[in-house]
Amino acid sequence: MLEERPSRAPGDQHRILVTGGAGFLGSHLCEQLLALGHDVLCADNFFTGTRRNVEHLLSDPHFELISHDVIQPLDVEVDRIYNLACPASPVHYQRDPVYTTKTIVLGAFNMLDLAKRQGARILQASTSEVYGDPGVHPQPESYWGNVNPVGVRSCYDEGKRCAETLFFDYHRQHGVDIRVARIFNTYGPRMHPEDGRVVPNFVVQALRGNPITIYGNGLQTRSFCFVDDLVEGLGRFMEANPGGPGPVNIGNPAEVTVRDLAQLIIDLTGSSSKLVFAPLPPDDPTQRRPDVSAAAQMFGWQPGVQLRDGLRKTIAYFDGLLSAGEFLPLRRERVR
Ligand code: NAD
Ligand code: UDP
Repeated sequence: MLEERPSRAPGDQHRILVTGGAGFLGSHLCEQLLALGHDVLCADNFFTGTRRNVEHLLSDPHFELISHDVIQPLDVEVDRIYNLACPASPVHYQRDPVYTTKTIVLGAFNMLDLAKRQGARILQASTSEVYGDPGVHPQPESYWGNVNPVGVRSCYDEGKRCAETLFFDYHRQHGVDIRVARIFNTYGPRMHPEDGRVVPNFVVQALRGNPITIYGNGLQTRSFCFVDDLVEGLGRFMEANPGGPGPVNIGNPAEVTVRDLAQLIIDLTGSSSKLVFAPLPPDDPTQRRPDVSAAAQMFGWQPGVQLRDGLRKTIAYFDGLLSAGEFLPLRRERVR
């Protein structure tokens, strides 16, 4: 990738911090930013991410990986920050919910303080979970949401809502240049086989010929965005000119039921797996689809990868990983 590195005008080349950069989305983002000719500092505590996700970038002199927990302050010289650090799978963010809230809220404080000191622009990886179990469908940014403040998902949902509040208050009170992206369900290569979200679960189950675990009746819906589209959207939002704080939805509006997703994965893998039904987790949203007209209008973005094509690439990735026996279990503990 070094040979392909484009040269950039001095004012156009950024020193960029990506927190959570060793995770699924973060590793793709680091890769894209390097390919665009920027310098990238990746900070991660490897709670759900792995060094392996960025191993191929370590020999690049424009890339640096540091072990850091965002609940601690960080002092580095950067002019762009993408704040992605946070477990995104319900299984992992519910494992230590108090720590999840700390990661999101203290992480937002610390990264906003850094942005303020450095005069850096900062983008927050917010989420469709701020809409909770939505009463408005599809969800535009103007919808305030329907979130249980005391449920098992609240550490994540309310944490991300609080982080949005902090971002907008640092913007209004301290003039920090913010971008708030509300990311909808995104999938692709480098999700961990033990991630626990629906796409890696179903793909791994189908490839192993194990039963596909449908939670509830499987009629709940999600709208799945392929990672390449998502990362492109985040980059465009960050550099949009004229830009603005958002919030802006980034996701793919093509909506499917969980049951149809399972059937599609069975078809694409040619698996003999059968569907099994398990209880629906508490507060599981019944429907979710982004209105992405703001992203189209503000920075000319819309997703291009069809679910079937993105799933083929994701299946090929997991197939390679599983047949080589090449994945390590998640550490399940954080670097202190
Ligand atoms: P992921 O779990 O693969 O990656 C998260 C990364 O953050 C991991 O590398 C993890 O080790 C790191 N991390 C966690 N806690 C940390 C801490 N305290 N300090 C430093 N690093 C820490 O998840 P992902 O899917 O790549 O999600 C990335 C971000 O995007 C998250 O903020 C998530 O809330 C947001 N998001 C993702 C999706 C999606 O569908 N992928 C949807 C909405 C929002
Ligand atoms: N789900 C499922 N089986 C699984 C994992 C998830 O049926 O093995 C369902 C889950 O109940 C939810 C949807 O798939 O309705 C998406 O779950 P995921 O954890 O990927 O993300 P969420 O959008 O709920 O945060």
